[in-house]
Amino acid sequence: MSFGTWLLNLFFPPKCPFCGAVLDAPGICPKCRKALPWTQGAEREQTLPGGVRCVSPLWYEDLAREGILRYKFRGASGAADTLGDLLADCAAEAYSGDFDTVTWVPISPKRLKKRGYDQARLLAQAACRRWQTKPLPLLKKPRDNPPQSGLHDAAARRANVLGIYQADTKQTEGRRVLLIDDIVTTGATLAECARELKASGAAEVLCLTLACTRKN
Ligand SMILES: [Zn+2]
Repeated sequence: MSFGTWLLNLFFPPKCPFCGAVLDAPGICPKCRKALPWTQGAEREQTLPGGVRCVSPLWYEDLAREGILRYKFRGASGAADTLGDLLADCAAEAYSGDFDTVTWVPISPKRLKKRGYDQARLLAQAACRRWQTKPLPLLKKPRDNPPQSGLHDAAARRANVLGIYQADTKQTEGRRVLLIDDIVTTGATLAECARELKASGAAEVLCLTLACTRKN
């Protein structure tokens, strides 16, 4: 361990993003690693509206839900590295060699100002560190829409995100894109982003999220 890392750990000790336990090195504590609701085998992958593939290492429930909500809404952005590792592992297993560009589902400038960080961007950056690359800002969300979480009907969720995202055609053309977000529920947001990326020339769009909700 370098002196710089040692000093950093002294003042900002690495914590398990799911239970908050202080650790010697960044990661997930053994207790949480065992208790987390991991998706198994084929459960990991689903097909979103528009035939878009999406993989997620966790179910959005219990400990996983608590950790992600803490990360998303309470400014625990230090957890991004550990969560990014989960994403990188999952992408390597599911999509190895199938993408050449990484991007994320952005929040609007207004939301960014309020929250101070774009959670999906930090996740994409953390996942990219493993591949010694950086995510590209292919999508923009110029204006806010009502939160998807307040809408339970699938058609209403699709309508709420329609036309909300804009892709940069110059950067998107011919790319095989890995699109990252924190959670997938109905998939309306990811499907709309994938549609916009493809309309802007992307050759392929593959989705990756930390967690997914169970379909009843
Ligand atoms: Zn833990």
